[in-house]
Amino acid sequence: MSDRYSRQTLFAPIGEAGQQRIRQKHVLIIGAGALGTGNAEALARAGVSKLTIVDRDYVEWSNLQRQQLYGEKDAAERLPKAIAAKSRLEMINSDVEIEAHILDATPQELEVLITGVDLILDATDNFDTRMMINDISQKYRVPWIYGACVGSYGISFTILPGETPCLNCLLESVPIGGLTCDTAGIISPAVQMVVAYQTAEALKILVEDWSSVRHKLVSFDVWTNQHTAINVLKAKKEGCLSCGDEPTYPHLAFENQTKTAVLCGRDSVQIRPPNRQKRDLTAMKELLENKGGTVEENPYLLSFTVDGRRLVLFKDGRALIHGTKDIAEAKTLYHRYFG
Ligand SMILES: [Zn+2]
Repeated sequence: MSDRYSRQTLFAPIGEAGQQRIRQKHVLIIGAGALGTGNAEALARAGVSKLTIVDRDYVEWSNLQRQQLYGEKDAAERLPKAIAAKSRLEMINSDVEIEAHILDATPQELEVLITGVDLILDATDNFDTRMMINDISQKYRVPWIYGACVGSYGISFTILPGETPCLNCLLESVPIGGLTCDTAGIISPAVQMVVAYQTAEALKILVEDWSSVRHKLVSFDVWTNQHTAINVLKAKKEGCLSCGDEPTYPHLAFENQTKTAVLCGRDSVQIRPPNRQKRDLTAMKELLENKGGTVEENPYLLSFTVDGRRLVLFKDGRALIHGTKDIAEAKTLYHRYFG
């Protein structure tokens, strides 16, 4: 045990002092897909004090090609990613406290989750959540590391409040907005490359080696052999509503209504009712069994297959409607079966 971190402490920019710092740090990872599992594994191995992992989804077979913490059993059982990640990470490093949340991050939840956090890692698949992360980071002066990938392409940027431009500043001047939901597929080396950039930046921030933090926006394509690093420091906007002198944090505005979203690159719609409501999955299972179709349940969610559609209900009332991108149809199915 004693030499567990020896190779990392031998690395001069970290050293014993840096390792002690890493051991005291708390990192919040939003998303436990490809980027989230890669970052979480690297930081658990590096020996952070605590990782908080937030994810709204469960493990599916199509995840296994690149989401490195999951195995076939997780997919067969449809375990929530946060839960499967936590149990795997605890096997990797039992010194690290892992806090797992099965939820779709909202502003209200981020306001709570941010407490005591030293760094936020973006491992989401959508821009709405990134803009929320951007605002919460500015509001509480917590650095965050943007990362995204699609196909063989990846991009990353480190955002230090009060120093670098924020994501909102960059949106107008750098072509990053287009890299959102896509059906172009993805290969694991693109993921690994973004994870490597994010983890390297994370270690610098955790050991407080601020002068080594990358100030350039890096992007690459591992298939077409392109690599660029753009200096974006001048992109900082004076009147930015997220990082300017009079911020309003527009992406933290409270929303108390049913939210629906077509999930990235998938034939699925998420439905999130206003206010989280605890659902009794066992009672719901009995109800659904009388409506025909097949019901499967695990301690975290219920999966209901009927008329060629699969509906998944989480304990907090959130649902994923698979087999459609039509929001109206998804809402109808939600109300028909889940009330
Ligand atoms: Zn800004």
